[in-house]
Amino acid sequence: MTIQTLEIMKCTHEKQKPEADQLEFGKYFTDHMFIMDYAEGKGWYSPRIIPYQPLTLDPASMVFHYGQTVFEGLKAYRSEEDGSVRLFRPEENFKRLNQSSDRLSIPPIDEAQLFAYLKELIRIDKEWIPTKPGTSLYIRPFIISTQSNLSVAPSQSYKFMIILSPVGAYYKEGINPVGIFVEDQYTRAAQGGTGMAKTAGNYCAAYKAQERATSHQKAQVLWLDGMEKKYIEEVGSMNVFFKINGEIHTPELSGSILEGITRRSVIELLQSWNVPVHERRISMEEILSASKSGTLEEVFGTGTAAVISPVGELLWKDHQMTVNDYKTGEIAKKLYDELTGIQTGKREDPFGWSIILNEDYE
Ligand SMILES: *Cc1c(COP(=O)(O)O)cnc(C)c1O
Repeated sequence: MTIQTLEIMKCTHEKQKPEADQLEFGKYFTDHMFIMDYAEGKGWYSPRIIPYQPLTLDPASMVFHYGQTVFEGLKAYRSEEDGSVRLFRPEENFKRLNQSSDRLSIPPIDEAQLFAYLKELIRIDKEWIPTKPGTSLYIRPFIISTQSNLSVAPSQSYKFMIILSPVGAYYKEGINPVGIFVEDQYTRAAQGGTGMAKTAGNYCAAYKAQERATSHQKAQVLWLDGMEKKYIEEVGSMNVFFKINGEIHTPELSGSILEGITRRSVIELLQSWNVPVHERRISMEEILSASKSGTLEEVFGTGTAAVISPVGELLWKDHQMTVNDYKTGEIAKKLYDELTGIQTGKREDPFGWSIILNEDYE
């Protein structure tokens, strides 16, 4: 693939940057965005960085009707120690973007080029990377289908974009556990469906279950398998781990589970610490009996947003299970400290996960 010239159009007026304490998730956006187009027969073309701005799209654009779209989510961190800007395993996000695209019949994008474009965009908007501990710049690459046609068929044109959003610390008062509602009515995904792809429909189809969780005063939903509603899949938009009798268990990738990069990193870290990790089918019955016998020691979710999210309580039908006295477990805390330490450059990075950007920046 040929390296295309990246066109850069800087904004003439910079936006006011929010104060660190105003930051929320995905509320503010930086001054610039990346955009590139695709046309059948031509491939991806015209990569450009332009001022952040609204799009004009034909109402018949396919994305509005049949949801042919995919996205990614990763973060840039600014090190408190040396001010360096770091990304965590970004190549995994580009690979996964193409895997999601494949499931949705969207053409792939060259991963090395994507990385080059992202680096340039972050460089231009680097003043937007917040510096306070726990804050970061959330990166949202996404693709939409833009052909104006109501046929139910893959679009012949697309737009790929990257937008950037400074986000606040996920845990404002330190890492702490949440209550979880085990959803026994709605399901997120089924084998053969789109569960392993980051595509819009998976997320809006989860709102009804989230409403049920909220009405039971629980923060998130724990999803069961789409076939029998017996086996554990994910928690909210996170992968899920259980510590039972000193060993760690997480649902195996079944095709309906999104393969988290945090999940994979947690497995690799635990293995490096010689903690036994099992990827397998885990039933809710089993969790209930572990809870009753006192061997359910920890439960936590993993994902880019929270990194590690400890679970203090599970509500499944009329079974109420308290986990570790509603306190953050030892393993969850250790993983959180290690991962955030690597991400921000505070800790050693034996795996080479943390990619430093600003060597060629200044
Ligand atoms: C993005 C996502 C995750 C977590 O993936 P990370 O790469 O760890 O951020 C887990 N489950 C779902 C459904 C997701 O969309």
